[in-house]
Amino acid sequence: MGFDMTRFQGEVDQELICAVCSGVLEDPVQVSNMLQAPECEHTFCRTCITEWIKRQATCPLDRTPIDSTQLRVAPRILRKLLARLSISCDNVMHGCQEIVKLDNLVSHLEKCEYNPDRPMLCEQGCNVVIPKNELKDHNCVRELRSIIHSQEQKLMDMKREMVIQKLQIAENKREIRVIHNILGLLKCGPMQDVGIVRQEEREIARWSASLPPAKINRWGGMISTPDELLQSMVKGTLMRAECPLHAIDQLMENCHERNWPSGLRSLETRQKHKRLYSGYVCKRLPGKQAVVVLHYDNKHMPAFMMAQPGLVMIFAHGIE
Ligand SMILES: [Zn+2]
Ligand SMILES: [Zn+2]
Ligand SMILES: [Zn+2]
Ligand SMILES: [Zn+2]
Repeated sequence: MGFDMTRFQGEVDQELICAVCSGVLEDPVQVSNMLQAPECEHTFCRTCITEWIKRQATCPLDRTPIDSTQLRVAPRILRKLLARLSISCDNVMHGCQEIVKLDNLVSHLEKCEYNPDRPMLCEQGCNVVIPKNELKDHNCVRELRSIIHSQEQKLMDMKREMVIQKLQIAENKREIRVIHNILGLLKCGPMQDVGIVRQEEREIARWSASLPPAKINRWGGMISTPDELLQSMVKGTLMRAECPLHAIDQLMENCHERNWPSGLRSLETRQKHKRLYSGYVCKRLPGKQAVVVLHYDNKHMPAFMMAQPGLVMIFAHGIE
């Protein structure tokens, strides 16, 4: 949109008028299409002609077909003529009497003291920068309060964010601990969580002490492949006998020869190692023809005769 003609001192050349807005050219562009004969070459304000083409793709003066790709910056000579024109300040109605070259208008407006939007530093105490036209309604205390309020809001948001982050970190740490424990139990290697293992071993020791010792008279009465029913009965007994929860399932797995250590896994190996049986420390499961042979009580036995956390042996008969 061009500048109002009435703001200029003296005559303005017709060449410098935009045919769309009838004002003096602002940011002028020229229609330039080498393929057109004769070339249009008319000049308009950039915003004026851009808006025009959106509605109608012909030159407003000679109706030559045009489009926005044909717009070029106006020739230097034309821009120089424009720059030399003298124009009154935008803030003339606010009292500015300044007449400046069109070229200098922008820099003048930035520092024009009549500019109602000029940023001003409050000198009544708060030192806040505000637009000049808001200065008359300005109240330092109110301004500072609103600044403090918005800072407090930001602080609250940050605190809330921190609490969420802390919770997240705590949760992550907890997960890492759980994973460590699982890894330790699985590997029983360097990752082993000594604390937990000690705790479980203490529970096994306490439980073992609570069970009466058993003496096996006839190892031949051992049932090496107990059926489901027998297994579930023994499991019930383990639970009633207050077997530590972490050991129950594994102990029950170890009541069948398929999970027994290599020295016990088949009739053949059992025959071979028969003479070692007397070394087992066995504990009686109350009311059942069954014993637990806990690893805790049998650290003296060779590895091929023991399993963690122990074995369950069910007998048809022959326990004292
Ligand atoms: Zn215009
Ligand atoms: Zn034209
Ligand atoms: Zn001014
Ligand atoms: Zn103030």
